[in-house]
Amino acid sequence: MEVLLERSQRQRGVDYCPLCGIVRGERSDEVVVYEDNKVIVVESSRPIAPVHLIVFPKAHYVDMAELAISDALPAMLSVVRSFIDRYGIVDKRLGIYCGTCPAHPHLHLQLLCGQVLSVVADDLGTPG
Ligand SMILES: [Zn+2]
Repeated sequence: MEVLLERSQRQRGVDYCPLCGIVRGERSDEVVVYEDNKVIVVESSRPIAPVHLIVFPKAHYVDMAELAISDALPAMLSVVRSFIDRYGIVDKRLGIYCGTCPAHPHLHLQLLCGQVLSVVADDLGTPG
């Protein structure tokens, strides 16, 4: 019963997840900058830095524990590494966001390049 409930909750999360909507091709407003069989990279629709990319697995994972049975995280990090190398990105931040991110309840990485908006930098506790 518990397993069925978890599956039901997981399916409901997938149905309403905006990142899963991108995977299903239902969100044409998102700019996809990279895609392979495991990972998609889109530009943030609400950027807080000159370059703000969202890197996520095509499979819906809510938290890190679920990634233990998958190779999605190494695949995502490999894509980030290739972007950093290809574009010679020096000034960068990389964050891992789990199910607590209200805009994207789907495990993802956010790659920020360049000066982060000062209001956000203050929230992060970094010098503006
Ligand atoms: Zn999802």
